[in-house]
Amino acid sequence: MSTQTVDPKTLDRYECGACGYIYEPVKGDDKHQVAPGVPFEELPQDWRCPVCGAPIARFQNMGPVGNPSGFKQNMGYGLGVNALTPGQKNILIFGGLALAGLFFLSFYGLQ
Ligand SMILES: [Zn+2]
Repeated sequence: MSTQTVDPKTLDRYECGACGYIYEPVKGDDKHQVAPGVPFEELPQDWRCPVCGAPIARFQNMGPVGNPSGFKQNMGYGLGVNALTPGQKNILIFGGLALAGLFFLSFYGLQ
């Protein structure tokens, strides 16, 4: 009485090195019609990050959901801003620019 189904919670999650998106096997990927429960390793080779379009090679293994420490590799001690990927830093920068733009627009909207 054994089933072949794998508990998706035990599957490794992968983080996009470009934008910080995390592929979670539990959820799959709606945008590319990837059903929940599909392991990252079984995604089609032409699968890309649904957020930024980065190829599979840019993704980094974060370990399964039950692994609170995140990355399997030793990340060292530099937590905080240094733990951000370049993509996440870009998001911060662009987010700041977008906010500045909104303030600029609202300023002129009041004239
Ligand atoms: Zn991405």
